[in-house]
Amino acid sequence: MIVDHSDLTSILCLRQTSLELRAHAQAILLDDKTALLAFYVARHDKLWQHLADWGAVVGGFAALSFLLRDPLLLNTTLEIYVSPLNSDHLEQVLQEDFDLALAQTGTQHWRLNRYATCRQISHTTSFICPNGRYIDVHTAATSSSLDPIASSVITAFSNWVSPHAFACAYPALTLRRRALRSLPSSASPELPGVYSHLIGHGFSIEQDAASWSDWSALVQDVPPPGSRPCLRQAFLCLTQARYFGDAGSLLNVFEPKEYGLRRLRSEHLPPFGISVVWRMLGPPCDGPCSFKDPLLPGDIITLPSVLIPPTTWFRLTYVGPDVVSPI
Ligand SMILES: [Zn+2]
Repeated sequence: MIVDHSDLTSILCLRQTSLELRAHAQAILLDDKTALLAFYVARHDKLWQHLADWGAVVGGFAALSFLLRDPLLLNTTLEIYVSPLNSDHLEQVLQEDFDLALAQTGTQHWRLNRYATCRQISHTTSFICPNGRYIDVHTAATSSSLDPIASSVITAFSNWVSPHAFACAYPALTLRRRALRSLPSSASPELPGVYSHLIGHGFSIEQDAASWSDWSALVQDVPPPGSRPCLRQAFLCLTQARYFGDAGSLLNVFEPKEYGLRRLRSEHLPPFGISVVWRMLGPPCDGPCSFKDPLLPGDIITLPSVLIPPTTWFRLTYVGPDVVSPI
């Protein structure tokens, strides 16, 4: 069927239509979810279960591959993100699960690595899979497993897939293979390779969305030197505070009837539990985002928070080494 080759947006729309198309679209999403982990381990069902048990999510190129429905984006290494509250448990079950047959190869602590620390990653534990591919379990430096994903230095990686849901922070860009970067490639030795890999897969990378003709018309005044045009009305200003589930993001679930957002909320699973509000690094915009954004004070990049719907409220829950109680 033509729908098999449709993009994610079309499949999500078709899931809202007739019963027949809904079932078919649903099956495609579940097949894509299976394929995501089957690239790494035979018992993808068990790996998804472990991620569910410990509130972990898949990010990086694998999440991007799912959103773009492009298996060519799958990398040799699967990137998993987990809260420090759960990382020991997750690493232990991955090591001990006989069916997965993973072998732990070591743990890297990132205190001196600028790229990792600005991404809010404290350490990474690596496993080798029976097929020779790898799994990296990244432990967040804060209490939110989503913090390192929201702290990506390029919008193309601000996405995640969990056992029950998936999210894309900048779908207007990412689903069209466009990306905004907050750091130049010279900022870290890892970045040139990351950016060129994306460009090799058809991505266009810019510093502000007004560089693309689609949005340049939204810019009314030339921004002052050192700042960028604010496109917050299109949710395309990097300085704007964002969260997974806001009007500029894509957030959906695999099985709306069995495991909808209401159930995720009651079980404190992503994007609920301890979530995150973020803005990206870089020069300020010429709009109000830097000094009077309603979600996030101007000098903070990310803040772990509890999302309280339906009228969105946040309870700030920063948990750092020197803070033991919520503020
Ligand atoms: Zn702005």
